Amino acid sequence: MSQCAECRVFACRLGKIDGAPDDCPMRSEADVYEWAKNEYVQPETGSVAYKCAVTESKGFSQWTRLEEIVHFCRRVGFQHLGLAFCVGLRKEAAEVSKILKSAGFELDSVACKTGGIPKEYLGVKEDQKVHPGNYEAMCNPLCQAKILERAGTEFNILLGLCVGHDTLFIKYTNTPMTVLAVKDRALGHNPLAVLYGNYYFAQRMAALKKK
Ligand code: SF4
Repeated sequence: MSQCAECRVFACRLGKIDGAPDDCPMRSEADVYEWAKNEYVQPETGSVAYKCAVTESKGFSQWTRLEEIVHFCRRVGFQHLGLAFCVGLRKEAAEVSKILKSAGFELDSVACKTGGIPKEYLGVKEDQKVHPGNYEAMCNPLCQAKILERAGTEFNILLGLCVGHDTLFIKYTNTPMTVLAVKDRALGHNPLAVLYGNYYFAQRMAALKKK
């Protein structure tokens, strides 16, 4: 059992393992750390981990996430990118597509509603739709993943997929990927605002407490 989120010392940050708390995974899972160290010296994983660390330090606190993605892809050598986006963020997707292409990448993009399959196919009832009485296409993360795979993308970027749809995309893709932005319509796609805006959201978070 690992409870890092409740740690008060973060001894790992300074490599001071002796100062770690009793329930620290570094004390109980030594074989996992050995396994990982062995993986990090394998050519492909080691190269990505190294280039990620260098990219992080190069633009630390200066580069936006989009810039970081561009610099990371250049450093690793990913040339052909994929963009799996939500149609609710189609304007943003068009902008991102323009920026990535002008940065010199080949880009394939696929919208979440691709296929146009009605939600009824999943068993969704009329009163379970976002707008009952209207045609609603289901989101189709499996096809997003497969179409990008067939296009031969080397690195995929998720933009605004909902919770669960992103789960399925990640499950069905075999391609390295990252997330540019997640879906949070209530907070301008900035989910952590709920923590920084605690005064306003405290009651709503308290309502999540298990009874
Ligand atoms: S790894 Fe250990 S020291 Fe680091 S945050 Fe987790 S419990 Fe704390």
